[in-house]
Amino acid sequence: MPATKKSETAKEPSKGRLRVGVLALQGDIEEHIAALRACKVEPVRVKTPEDLKSVDGLIIPGGESTTVANLLERFQLAKPLHDRARTGMPIWGTCMGMIVMADKVVGAKQPTLGLLHIEVKRNAFGRQTESAEEPLEIEGLDGKPFPGVFIRAPWIESAWGGAHILSYVDGKGVMVWQKNLLGTSFHPELTDDTRIHAYFVKMVEAAKG
Ligand code: GLN
Repeated sequence: MPATKKSETAKEPSKGRLRVGVLALQGDIEEHIAALRACKVEPVRVKTPEDLKSVDGLIIPGGESTTVANLLERFQLAKPLHDRARTGMPIWGTCMGMIVMADKVVGAKQPTLGLLHIEVKRNAFGRQTESAEEPLEIEGLDGKPFPGVFIRAPWIESAWGGAHILSYVDGKGVMVWQKNLLGTSFHPELTDDTRIHAYFVKMVEAAKG
């Protein structure tokens, strides 16, 4: 993973005050909340444009992408989310969250936010791997391979315009980074390994300055 702007050795004065949101319309919200607590930041359930204004970063959890894309419009969150992304707020989508953030979905006209310059394929790993755990090598992540939990997961078919693939399974992209945006096909919140949450918190910290 790319280095964040702030020095690794800096003390962590603002960490306690960082507010990291979890989009709380549908999906595995509570697991992300618990992982953020483990990273010592204040988790915030985001359901309204007001909630969104109050956070320094946002996680879009796993769930069902067509449902959530519709709910984003209904709850009037799509436009403010877009605006916050454009002005540098870090956003991380896990599984369904990455689909919702993508520019394109293979073979579908479903609405997306069009933030990540990727094309994703939904439910891409096939029925036999509806649910699987795969040790992942992730660019820039030190230590042992990351336990990748895949549940009806998408893969990244292609990436362009500054979207950089950080991890692959069978030659298919499963993690992407693009400036202030992050996407994973898998679910770090369903493991007790908080390295990717900690990395995202660092992105949020760096963006807050
Ligand atoms: N299959 C779901 C979708 O396409 C995503 C699954 C998940 O988030 N675990 O929306």
